[in-house]
Parts: sequence; C-alpha cells; structure tokens
Amino acid sequence: MPTAAIRNADFDVAIVGAGPAGARTAAQLAARGRRVLILERDPEPGRPVHCTGIVSSECVERFALPRSLVLHEIDSFVLHSPKGASAQVKRPSAQAYVLDRVGLDKHLVRRAEEAGAQALAGAAVNEVTWTGGGVRVEGTLGGERLRVEARAAVIATGFGAPLARRLGLGQAREVLSGCQVVAEAEGLAQVEVYSGGAHGRGGFGWLVPYRPGYALAGVLTRSHAVRYMREHVRRLQGAARIGAVVETFRCRPVPLGVVGRSVADGVLGVGDVVNQVKPTTGGGIYYGLLGADAAAETLAEALERGCADSAALEPYEARWRGLMASEIRHGYQLRRLLEGLPDTGVEQMHRLLRLPGLQRAAASIGAPFDWHSGPLLRFMDRLQRYAEPAA
Ligand SMILES: Cc1cc2nc3c(=O)[nH]c(=O)nc-3n(C[C@H](O)[C@H](O)[C@H](O)COP(=O)(O)OP(=O)(O)OC[C@H]3O[C@@H](n4cnc5c(N)ncnc54)[C@H](O)[C@@H]3O)c2cc1C
Repeated sequence: MPTAAIRNADFDVAIVGAGPAGARTAAQLAARGRRVLILERDPEPGRPVHCTGIVSSECVERFALPRSLVLHEIDSFVLHSPKGASAQVKRPSAQAYVLDRVGLDKHLVRRAEEAGAQALAGAAVNEVTWTGGGVRVEGTLGGERLRVEARAAVIATGFGAPLARRLGLGQAREVLSGCQVVAEAEGLAQVEVYSGGAHGRGGFGWLVPYRPGYALAGVLTRSHAVRYMREHVRRLQGAARIGAVVETFRCRPVPLGVVGRSVADGVLGVGDVVNQVKPTTGGGIYYGLLGADAAAETLAEALERGCADSAALEPYEARWRGLMASEIRHGYQLRRLLEGLPDTGVEQMHRLLRLPGLQRAAASIGAPFDWHSGPLLRFMDRLQRYAEPAA
C-alpha cells in the first residue's frame, strides 16, 4: 500500500509490531469488521528469529495452528543434572510442539490479512500521540516520514520498546536474557534441559530437535547470556552432541513479573511489551496470543461505544490479568526459589526425580505445559517430604 494512501486512509486501529501478539490482535479486530493497519519495523515478519518456537498442545488447539508449522512433537524430555546425570520425564501423548517460528509469524500475519487487515513491513513507529478523539502514529517507512491517524493503537513491539515507556505502559524491573544457535546434530529425538550454575543463577540450557540434521541450543539466564551460551555449546560439542554452529540468533531480553499498567489513552499493550510471559521458562507465545484476544475484545467494545480513552480500555487490565497474572506471579516465586538453590540442592532434586516413586508422582501431577506453577509447587512439596522424612 503506498504511503500517500495510508496517510489519507482512516483506520480504527494501528497495530505496532507484527509478532504473534500484534498479528493475532489485528486478525481478531479485522474479523469484527474493524479497519486495521499493522506496522512492522522489520522487512519480513518473524525475522530476525530469536525464539525456540515451543508451544503447548493447548495453544496449538486453541488457536488452530496448522500441522504444517510443526517441526517436532514433544511427549518426553530429558533433564540433565549439574553433574551430568539424566532423568527422563515422559507423558503418554504430545504435550508440546516445536514450531517453525518464522512460519508461525507469517501465518498469523496472513490470517490477519485474510480477515481484512493491511500490513506494512519496514514501517518503524517512534511516536504515538493521543489527540483526544484518537491517536496519531508517526514513524518512518523506507526512509520517508510516515503518519497515520487511527482511533486507537496497540503496542505489540516485544519487550524493551522506548515507545511503551514514553506512553506510560508498565515496565519490567527484572529481565532474563535468552540466546540461541542452530547447530548440526544427527538423531536428536528429544528435548533436553540442562540445569545448574554452569548456566548462571537460575539459568538453564537446552538442546531441541529442529529441522532434520539440526538442533537448537540455547540458554536463558539472568546475565552474561552470550558467555553462558558459548560454554553450553562448547560442552555439547565436547560431548559430540552437536557439530558446527551454522547460525547464531540474536540475544533477547525476557521480562519477568507482573507489570503495573497496560493501557493509556488510546493505547493498549499486548504480549512481551507488558510481560505476558511465563517467568519459569520464558515462553511468551501462548500468553501473548491470549492477551491479544483480550485486547481485541476490549478495543471492539470501546470502538463500538465511540471512545478509546484509558477509562474505556480499562476492562483490558482485568481481562488479561484474570487469565494469567496469578500464574505469572507464582511462576516468578518459583523461579526465585530455584535461583536460590545451590548445585548440591539441584543435584539432590535430580537424584529424587530418578526414584521410580517420584517419577510416577511427577507424571501423575500432570502439570499442564502452560499452567505449571501450582502443580510444580505441589511437586516440590512432595519432593521436600521425600527428602526430609518426618523424624
Ligand atoms: C532465546 C529465546 C527463546 C524463546 N523461546 C520461546 C519458546 O520456545 N516458546 C515461547 O512461547 N516463547 C519463547 N520465547 C519468548 C517469545 O519469543 C516471545 O514471548 C514472543 O516472541 C513475544 O511475542 P510478541 O508478539 O509480544 O513480540 P515479538 O515476537 O518480539 O514481536 C514484536 C514485533 O514488533 C516489531 N517492532 C518492535 N518495535 C517496533 C516499532 N517501533 N515499530 C514497528 N514495529 C516494531 C518487532 O520487529 C517484532 O516483529 C523465547 C525468547 C527467547 C529470547
């Protein structure tokens, strides 16, 4: 769509960012007959890639994600202790999937376009201003100035956007840092998780089957992610688990905790930008998609009533928080608990996990992939009782 046509067009909602959260919000609003424009800074949705693309079967079903996006089914995973002992956790059926993340982003943008939204790639937004009756969105498109009028805007820029800060949307006070590479790997059948201080405080490493002949290896940790990732890769290469690194993804921050505000006049934040992320694993795709539905519902109601000021958008706060804020809060507590464990404690947990009785308990607790803090806390309680039998 030419820039001049955009200037003269009248949009209901401008969506800033074409990640999963932005694209899903756009699709839901367009499906309700709203005129939606997606503005994406990068030339292509989903690139540059940073993410492993693991989502639960619940997420795949709820958002009807096509099988063609699935690279690998996960029905079991291997947990490695700091000293290198391993324990397998197995479920009777697929709990999660490794998705083609670039394909996922493209698919979600395509769905939004099919529903009637328009998408502009290479459009970087640097200002959103409330004008009283709507918003003015300003930025650049291919070196030219871009200015769009809409009745509201959705900020779906991922974590750390200065724009969100300027608009008064809540900011995470704590972050993790995630880094990942694609490496040659033959015959990798399961997801593997590596625990212990070698990945930094509360950090963990992973090895995940990717396209045939390749694996994703990465770390999520508090700080120095690049250093920990290099060491993780070196250890995996030393053990002949992976071969040469063929691609290094960019490192990205992962926000922790529950944010203060997610709405302002004419503006609403969705996805990573307002911490809709699991603090335990750093997974944010599913929560971002859930947040998107809550955002679209709220915006549709506000536009119906003809006003999108912060009071009209306020119901969004309760909607998305009702879905996930308690899980994020508990997940954060669980993370802090695990971060406080020395390697000897982690090693002891692994030893207990390898006991057949506790393996059965782990399987029977049946923690759903996305709502795991409650079951995990219960499991840790059982673990503690195993570890410290009553005197
Ligand atoms: C190493 C790593 C591995 C991960 N693995 C997983 C995983 O396996 N499963 C999972 O669920 N989550 C994972 N995550 C988290 C997941 O990637 C994020 O939670 C998810 O991408 C958030 O989606 P989003 O739509 O909010 O933001 P993003 O996906 O970050 O999309 C934001 C979009 O906004 C655009 N944008 C930014 N600023 C502007 C601007 N000013 N103007 C216009 N456009 C702009 C960006 O270019 C981008 O396309 C991982 C994260 C990391 C770091």
